[in-house]
Amino acid sequence: MPPSIPRRLVVASSNPHKVEEIDAVLMPLGVELLRLDQAGGGGLPEPEEDGETFEANARIKATAYARAVGLPCLADDSGLEVDALGGEPGVRSARWSGVAGDRATRDAANNRLLVDRIRSIPIHARSARFVCAMCLAMPDGSILAESRGTFEGVIVERPRGTNGFGYDPHLLLPAEGRTSAELAPEEKNARSHRGTATRAIAAMLLGSAVGG
Ligand code: IMP
Repeated sequence: MPPSIPRRLVVASSNPHKVEEIDAVLMPLGVELLRLDQAGGGGLPEPEEDGETFEANARIKATAYARAVGLPCLADDSGLEVDALGGEPGVRSARWSGVAGDRATRDAANNRLLVDRIRSIPIHARSARFVCAMCLAMPDGSILAESRGTFEGVIVERPRGTNGFGYDPHLLLPAEGRTSAELAPEEKNARSHRGTATRAIAAMLLGSAVGG
């Protein structure tokens, strides 16, 4: 593996879909990704994501967990921005509906709210994007790399596809004629906000002098 890339990173996410997407990009570079529980951070309290931007929340998560587990830690904060809704749900994407429960329950409630809010908006005015801010922090709290990726589409009322998670079935990629949930995992990763942000982090690390 290239000598400049930290060999072991902790991914600060409890979302298995996110971890898989990040792993698919970094594993070929020889980076071993550990989940929080594998790094001894399973029982840690979640830091409060009270930032007003994706970048601020990614920094909060990466630095808190890197300090706590004593290993370099990669965190992403991501969400959906719908232009006709003034950028909502934005940083509140994960819990937009206010419905509690497991991830599938929350995703379903968020998607129902999205359909309600978008119904009266004509299709040509439904531009939207997934945004992902990523941050790699060191155990001393310093930030090694940061990146951002976006994934542009339009919102459709009728969900399509079963891959992915969250709002994927409602983001149509006009050039493809498919939603994000209709893409195979490697197709999504090749162009998605998270794939782009992860590749940018990898490129920064390859160009840096950090090792170990
Ligand atoms: P986070 O875990 O605080 O970053 O919240 C991210 C939320 O944004 C998720 O719960 C989803 O609702 C949404 N989201 C982020 N990335 C994606 C994606 O790739 N597909 C679908 N929804 C996403």
